[in-house]
Amino acid sequence: MITGDASYIKKINRSIILREIVKEGLISRADLSKVTALTRATISAQVADLIDEGLVVETQLEHFTVGRKPIMLSLNSEAGYALGIDLDFDHISFTVSNLTGTPITSKRIETNTTNYSEILNLLLEHIKMYKSEYAYSQYGIIGIVIAIHGLVGKDETIHYVPRLRWNNIALKSDLEKQIDINVYLENNANLSAFAERVYVHHETDNLLAATLYSGIGLGMMMNNEFFRGHDGFAGEIGHMIVVPNGIQCNCGNKGCWERYASENAIFRHLSETRNIHAVTYEDIQRWLDEGDKEVRQLMEHFIYYLSIGLNNMINMYNPDVLVLDSELLRMYPNSLDKIRENLNSSISHYRALQISSIGRNSAVLGACALAIKHFLEVPMLNLNYDFQQNNKNASVNI
Ligand SMILES: [Zn+2]
Repeated sequence: MITGDASYIKKINRSIILREIVKEGLISRADLSKVTALTRATISAQVADLIDEGLVVETQLEHFTVGRKPIMLSLNSEAGYALGIDLDFDHISFTVSNLTGTPITSKRIETNTTNYSEILNLLLEHIKMYKSEYAYSQYGIIGIVIAIHGLVGKDETIHYVPRLRWNNIALKSDLEKQIDINVYLENNANLSAFAERVYVHHETDNLLAATLYSGIGLGMMMNNEFFRGHDGFAGEIGHMIVVPNGIQCNCGNKGCWERYASENAIFRHLSETRNIHAVTYEDIQRWLDEGDKEVRQLMEHFIYYLSIGLNNMINMYNPDVLVLDSELLRMYPNSLDKIRENLNSSISHYRALQISSIGRNSAVLGACALAIKHFLEVPMLNLNYDFQQNNKNASVNI
C-alpha cells in the first residue's frame, strides 16, 4: 500500500527524474542515479512507469564499439504538444511546440476588434482546430498558456488590459468551460523572462527581462519562480517616473520611463515629426545607414533614458542576468556597450547584460514552455533551441 507520504515522495522523485532527462537530452539509468542521488532501484521503477506512460523512450547507442551498448533514456518529444498563444491588442499568435519546446507550427491572425466575445470565439475556433489536429498523438494538446499584455491576477483572472480596454475578464474559465484542456494565463513579460531562462540562460536562477516595444514590460524570475508581487501585478516598471513633470503618459502621470525608453516613443516621435503614418524598422535602418543626424540623436536619447531606468532597476533587484528585448537595440551599432558604459555606478551590480537572442517570439515560446512545465510537473525546464538557425535544428541538450 502506498501511504500519503510515500506517494508524495514518489511524485517528487518523478519530477526530479523527468527534469534531469529533459535537461540532459539523453541519459542512462546509471547516470540518472548519480545526478539525482536516487537509488538504482528507485530509478528503474520510476523509469518503467514513465516508459509505460509513453513519456520516456529508450535508445541504444550504436557508436559504442567496445562492450555493451548503453541504453539511454530521453523524453518522448512527440507524446504530446503544447499550445502557446500571444494575445496582443491587434493580433493573436499561435505556436504549437513538441514536449522538448521545439516549435512545430506557428500562425498569426489579425484581430481588428477589441470585443471580448469576438476574441473569445476566435480563440476557441483555433484551439479546437489544434486540438483535433494533434489528437492523433498520445496526449494531444497537453496544455494552453496565453500571454496577456496587461495585469493578470494571481488567480489568473485578467484584471486590466490597457490596449484592449478589458477589465476583470474570466478568460481562463470561459475557455475551460468549452474545451477539455488546462488553460493558464500569464503576463507576456513574465513569459518572455521564462523563455529566456528556459531556452537560453540555464545557469541562472535570477533573471530580469525587459521588453521595450509598445511600452516597457518587465518579467522577473527569482529562484526559478515568477516574482509577482502581492496581487500579481509586479513589473509595471514602464511607469516608473524618470523625468519629473515630463511627457504626459496614458496612465495619468507625467515623465514615465516608457515614454522615453520604449521603441514606441521613437516611432511615435518620428511619425509626428516626419508626418509618416506608420514608420517601420526598415525606415529607421535606412535613415541610420544614410547617417540621419536626428535619428542617431533619438537613438542616443533612447539609450540614455534606457540606462537611467536600468540603473534604478539594477539597484532595486541586483539581478544576475538582465535581458533586453528590442529590435532597435539590435539594429543600432554598439548599443549594448553604450548602455554598459552608462551603468558605471559603484553601487550597481549585475553579472550579464544582453540583448535577447529570442526576440519577439519570446512570449509565445515561453507560453509553450510553461505549458510543458505544468504538464511534466517539473520545478524548472532547460530546453535547447537554436534561435539563430531560423527555427530549425532544435533539440534538447545532447
Ligand atoms: Zn505612465
